[in-house]
Amino acid sequence: MDLFEYQGKQYFARFGIPTSPGGVAETVDEAVAAAQAAGFPCVIKAQVKVGGRGKAGGIKLAATPEEARAHAAAILGMDIKGHVVRRVWVERASDIAAEYYAGFTLDRPNKVHLGMLSAQGGVEIEDVAATNPDAIARLSIDPVRGLDLETARRWVAEAELDPAVREATAALLCDLYRCYDEGDCDLAEINPLIVTTDGRVHALDAKVTLDDNATFRHPEWAEFAATETEDPREQLAKQKGLTYIGLDGTVGIIANGAGLAMSTLDVVNQAGGSAANFLDIGGGANADVMSAALEVINTDPKVRSIFVNIFGGITRVDEVAKGVLAALERVKIAAPIVLRLDGTNAEAGRALLEPHLSDRLIASPTMLEAAERAVALAGG
Ligand code: GDP
Ligand code: MN
Repeated sequence: MDLFEYQGKQYFARFGIPTSPGGVAETVDEAVAAAQAAGFPCVIKAQVKVGGRGKAGGIKLAATPEEARAHAAAILGMDIKGHVVRRVWVERASDIAAEYYAGFTLDRPNKVHLGMLSAQGGVEIEDVAATNPDAIARLSIDPVRGLDLETARRWVAEAELDPAVREATAALLCDLYRCYDEGDCDLAEINPLIVTTDGRVHALDAKVTLDDNATFRHPEWAEFAATETEDPREQLAKQKGLTYIGLDGTVGIIANGAGLAMSTLDVVNQAGGSAANFLDIGGGANADVMSAALEVINTDPKVRSIFVNIFGGITRVDEVAKGVLAALERVKIAAPIVLRLDGTNAEAGRALLEPHLSDRLIASPTMLEAAERAVALAGG
């Protein structure tokens, strides 16, 4: 789960990482009040889970309440790379002497943690990595041994940070590592990590990705989950215990098991079409699961046809057929459905469906033929 900047800063604060005090606001009036509480000049920052807000006009300095009002009005509701701004974070503006970069993430192939530190922060770290890779001091960290202050001191020297702030930065990096490690992050990144004109180091931005596998250890993450702005269909599917991923095509897909769902995507492509989603209903395919799956797909206006591809193993195909029929009674489906049911009790399942088949509910004996029909119905 990705956090908003303000949530990332709250998370940092728990581990003693300095940030500017401020407030979050959902309306222009709240933003002005937050600005007055923070003091002027202040900075109004769009809260969207995407980088490059500054360049997109989502970050503005305000010297007066009037300016704060004008900026908040402009930023709230703004679209930044497809993300609509619903909240702003308002904090006292900092006077910047230098902008650094600091971050920890997983180095999966090497089975270690990776720290990255650079005196050239503020800009996208990918750009620094591409144009001036030597400007990033990388540190591999053994997850069992962790990061100690001595190592952090060598690291800040290697990154050639201003000697005056090396000691404070080394301590901050140890705190950030604790946040990353004990706080169960996949990514904990500060860009820019600033040096203020009066010589303090300070997180001006926060990019935190929490490791969803650790959710059980963190009941306090529930407040972050509550503000997750995920795709409404993914939300609906999650509520119903289904694995759903939205894609760009026109053929809606329901399959049992991730492997078969992937093969179904492939065969739809092979037939010249494109999948609107990936939906794995898992092992069971009873009426509840099938209704839920159809309901989720039905809310996608891009879907022109639905391809239900079930291979009965433990799940018997006659049960699946009953599930499909029951689901069709419950949910009014906008798109025609092509069914390919095979495996355990396939004959019995097809016999159950037989009287209900029409040009809106089509049975097809093989996966490829079913895909071709679904693609044709979707208009190619
Ligand atoms: P991003 O563009 O989404 O990464 O947003 P950041 O929070 O990193 O802000 C982008 C840039 O805005 C920073 O690199 C700073 O140059 C500038 N900025 C943000 N906050 C302040 C502030 O308090 N004072 C000043 N002077 N500049 C700021
Ligand atoms: Mn940033």
